[in-house]
Formats: sequence, structure tokens, C-alpha cells
Amino acid sequence: MTQARAQEPVYLDYAATTPVEPRVAARMAEVLAMRLGNPSSSHESGRQALQLIQVARAQVAALVGAAAEDIVFTSGATESNNLAIAGTVRKAQAAGAKPHVVTLATEHKSVLEPVKALAAQGVAITVLKPDAEGVLDPAVLAAALRPETCLVSLLHVNNETGVAQDIARFAAACAARTVPLHIDAAQSAGKLPLTVEGLALLSFSAHKLGGPQGIGALYVAPAQRGRLAPQMLGSSHERGLRAGTLATHQIVGFGLACELAAARLATEGPRLAALRERLWQGLADLPGARRNGRPGAPHILNASFPGVEGESLFLGLPQLALSTGSACNSRSAEPSFVLRALGRDTETAQSSLRFSLGAGSNAADIDAAIAAVRRVHAALWESSPARPPPSWPGDERWLGEAGAERLGTWVRVGLRVTAGTVREAHIQVYGCPHTVAACELLQQRLTGQPAGALVTGSPEQWRTTVGAPVEKLGRLLIIEDALTALRPAA
Ligand code: PMP
Repeated sequence: MTQARAQEPVYLDYAATTPVEPRVAARMAEVLAMRLGNPSSSHESGRQALQLIQVARAQVAALVGAAAEDIVFTSGATESNNLAIAGTVRKAQAAGAKPHVVTLATEHKSVLEPVKALAAQGVAITVLKPDAEGVLDPAVLAAALRPETCLVSLLHVNNETGVAQDIARFAAACAARTVPLHIDAAQSAGKLPLTVEGLALLSFSAHKLGGPQGIGALYVAPAQRGRLAPQMLGSSHERGLRAGTLATHQIVGFGLACELAAARLATEGPRLAALRERLWQGLADLPGARRNGRPGAPHILNASFPGVEGESLFLGLPQLALSTGSACNSRSAEPSFVLRALGRDTETAQSSLRFSLGAGSNAADIDAAIAAVRRVHAALWESSPARPPPSWPGDERWLGEAGAERLGTWVRVGLRVTAGTVREAHIQVYGCPHTVAACELLQQRLTGQPAGALVTGSPEQWRTTVGAPVEKLGRLLIIEDALTALRPAA
């Protein structure tokens, strides 16, 4: 095994954002120091800025095989998606149409939310379902198209699972009905070969491919230009499609990042795919481990580890910078809607980790991640109530159990009793870190107590002792239920 870099967490969250490439950062710093004018100004320092933007626009366009003049700079893929969707619908409405939009249940929220907002305003929406592997069948798409469909908006690569859709076949299905197709390529640009051929609109973002945060692009096909209403109103920047002074240094950084990504595309894809497979091979034999979604993009592995509780697994890995789902979802306790759409139950969805790789990833990172996950998994699995209860041959054994994996908390208390006294307590627990801590506390307290009259304190006392927030009280009540259920067992 190769040596891991010391100390700093292993960064495995490139799908959330990539660190800015050093060459990109250096070039941006240079541009910031140039005392450039507004690129819309006609004097020399304005023209200088405009020239830099023209070069960058061509670099950005080249990554996706577009003409430079068809690139509209935005603040990122979120804005690009909003502009593509709301812009197309508003323009169709202005022309008197009653538009219909088709999308997929596993889209990024920057597509689903604008679609939801339009639905609330009466726009007809069809949200298609992927199969259990996360893949959308082009025939399902074709069947959803209506004469009034003004836009189909679909992801190329899913940000949580890495599932890659066959966008050429989507384009063919849409072309057959002359429906414009918008593709969100935030996760695929610079990772997979990509072309705008057959597409009306394409969103992507600099900070997913080694560029800075806060800058992105929407490719707008010439035929779509007149079908798009700007969402940001002001001056006539970007052919009137997106008002606002162009951020020269951001755009220059974006351009260079696109050029570097394009140059390494052919080698970087296979390199990352090999690392991704090394990672999966290192984890696949863990009990119940399951990969989520059909393997697609080279840089994303999403796997579930049923039988170990998600929060305990995730929080047990502080030495890895990764996500439980998309970064947008990581802080919420909600299970990933993407994994739920793939048919995973709540607990399986919650016990999933998304590893995402990028330019700085190497075999040492992967091996460190494998070792860390295996260590935490082993500790959680070892104490799981899914394993047989403890046995103390020759001694009396008391068992009490409550909860279930599907409820998020599952506790089994085992006592070794001799002459009516607890000689040893062993609590098996599937639960959040606070539940685990409360079980550890009790395990110590129970030893030496009379088995028929345990003094354990109350869930509220355990809660304050382990520092659990009040909303965790319900989980601690399950421990109390397990204690109440204690009976002599065979
Ligand atoms: N779409 C996808 C698929 C993404 O992964 C992201 C970023 N998580 C976005 C859109 C939004 O991109 P940005 O951060 O540039 O707004």
C-alpha cells in the first residue's frame, strides 16, 4: 500500500466542489492584479478585460464542442438551470402557450425546485422515474412528450450516485418531436466526453472541474436563443440573456480550468474510474454492502452499508471529507431522495456514503479511506443487535430488546446474572452516536446491580449526561423500553 498524506483529512468530496487548481488560482490572481476595466467599457482597460473574456469563452465552449458565442456566463449551474427552465417556460407563456415540462425525479434540486415553483403556478409538469439502477429509459421519455412540451430537463451525471444517462438517446427522442432538451452537465463536464450536439441548452459549473466557485455557463443553441426569456434583468449583457457585469477573473479561471480539464479528459477518466473500482473492491465484502446506481461517471461511488446506522458511520469518519449524499443534503437528517427514488428503504439510504474523486485523488487516499471505513464499520457491526446476543454458558442470562433497524434505533440489553446480581452487561445497539453513548453509560452502571431491581436513571438524565439534543429523547426511550423488556432468557 502507498503512504497516505499525513494529518489533513482525505478529500473525497470533489462532487461537492473541487479545490481550485493551482495554475487556475495563479492566473486568477494575476488577472485581479491587472487593474482591468469593465469589459463592457470601450476604453483600453475595458477592452483588455473583454479580450481575456473572449479567450476564456472560447476555452469554455471548446470543452463541450460549442461555438463561443453560444455560451452565456452565469453564477453557476444553479443559475444556469433556473435560466434554462424558467426562461423557456416564461417565453412560451409570453407567446400564449400552456407549456409542459418533463424532468426526472433524481435531478439536482436546482432543477427540481424551479420546476416545483412552476408547477405551483399551474405549469404542467411530468416527473419521470428512473429504474432501480437510476437509469431513465429513453422510451419512457419519448412516451411522456406531448405536443405542448416546451422543455425536457435532465441530468447527465447524478451528483449523488454518479449514474450517467444516455443523453444522445434522449436527444434523439426529443428531436423526433422537436422538443428542446436541456442537460445539466455540472457533474460530467470535464469528466466525461460531452458535446452540445442535439441539445438546446447545457448547464455546467467551474467549481466542479478545478475552477472557482461562483461562475458557470449555460450553452444556448442558436435556435433556442429566441425561446429563452432572461431571468436576470438589467443591461444587455450576454446577448440580452443574463444581465450583470461579467466577472473577468472568474471567467478567466473558468476558461483555464476547462482547457486543463479538456487536455486531461482522455487519461483522467480511466484513472479515476480505476481508483473508484479500487475503493469499491476494498469495501464490497463488508456485510450487506451495496453499490447504489449503475456505475457511470468515473469519479463517484455511492454505497450503502445496511446494518450500521448512517449517522454513526458518517460521524465516525472525521478523517475523511465526504458526504452522506449530496452536500446539499448532508446536514439534513432526511434520507436522500435520490436513493429513495432508486427504491432504497430509509435506513439503507441513510447508511450510505458518497465518495467522489478528483484531480488530487491517488491510491493512497483510496487505501486510507478503505481502512477508515472498514475500521468504523467493524466497530459498529460488532455491537449491532443484528448479531447474535451474548451467551454466558453456565450463568443465567437476561435479555431485553426494543426498536428495529427500520425505526433507526434498535437496542438489545444482555445481562450475565449470578445469584441475582448483574455480573456483566452487554448492550448491542444500532443507533446514532448519542444513543450509542447512552448505551455505553448504562452498560457500566448496570454491573453489580440486583437484576430484578435495576436502577438506571431516566432517559432525560441520560440525555443530559451524553449531551444529546432534546429531539433525540425519543431514541433514548427505546433504550428504556429494552430495559423494561429484560427477562431471564434460555
Ligand atoms: N447540478 C448538479 C448535478 C450539481 O451537482 C450541482 C452542484 N452540487 C449543481 C447543479 C449546482 O451547481 P452550482 O453549485 O454551480 O450552482
